[in-house]
Amino acid sequence: MKRQRVIPLAGSVWHYHRTRGPRMDLPSVITIDGPAGAGKSTLGALLAERLGYLYFDTGLMYRALTLAAMRAGIDLHERQAVEALAARTRLEVTEPRVNDGRQYTVLADDTDVTWAIRDPAVERNVSLVSSYPGVRRELTRQQRAIGQRGRVVMVGRDIGSVVMPDAELKIFLQASLDERARRRANERVDAPPVAEVREAIARRDALDEHVMRPAPDAVVLHTDGLSPAEELAWILDYLGRRPGSA
Ligand code: C5P
Repeated sequence: MKRQRVIPLAGSVWHYHRTRGPRMDLPSVITIDGPAGAGKSTLGALLAERLGYLYFDTGLMYRALTLAAMRAGIDLHERQAVEALAARTRLEVTEPRVNDGRQYTVLADDTDVTWAIRDPAVERNVSLVSSYPGVRRELTRQQRAIGQRGRVVMVGRDIGSVVMPDAELKIFLQASLDERARRRANERVDAPPVAEVREAIARRDALDEHVMRPAPDAVVLHTDGLSPAEELAWILDYLGRRPGSA
């Protein structure tokens, strides 16, 4: 992985546009990987909005499949039963279909599961479900099909290395466990103790370790102490400075 010193810079791609030339070749596929709470979703959504790209959070698919398995009464330790469900469940992520503050709608076999996939029970089980090779094969195939349409920011754990290894810009977000726990606790309306959230994230880190695949050519951004706006500025600046970007 390329290690970058994190210096949020004032200039942006747009500044670069104005000063250096009319046009910049933006990467068609941008991947953002990293552990839970590193800020992938926030940065991914901001970046996609700024570039006019589709924002695609692949974790939603693993969550939706986990929920579908729980609702179907499948024993989640039965690998083959879960893999068979992955092969026959239609997962879709669309634009918001209800005006209730959501950023997207998630459907599993036409059932709206947008909020239900955030349930702590789903969060406890999702790492087990996503550890099954048949599940990963199937969801990778579906994710790749969406990614190959281009103009997309894809967020996950293995996107730059496994799902879209040819992506022109790969970002790996890193943040300390304490920072990630603080952020997640602040996001939640029930204001849980940070220590409790920290423990849950540490558990998920350990379970997800084998699915986490930083791409060797990813640019690593350490986000402790950075606001989402600063992270976005850094990425836009990095884009503007890439060789051949104008
Ligand atoms: O990113 P998020 O926390 O929503 O992801 C939920 C879970 O889905 C992760 O803890 C991980 O187990 C799984 N996941 C994965 N590969 C991805 C994205 C998510 O295995 N590309």
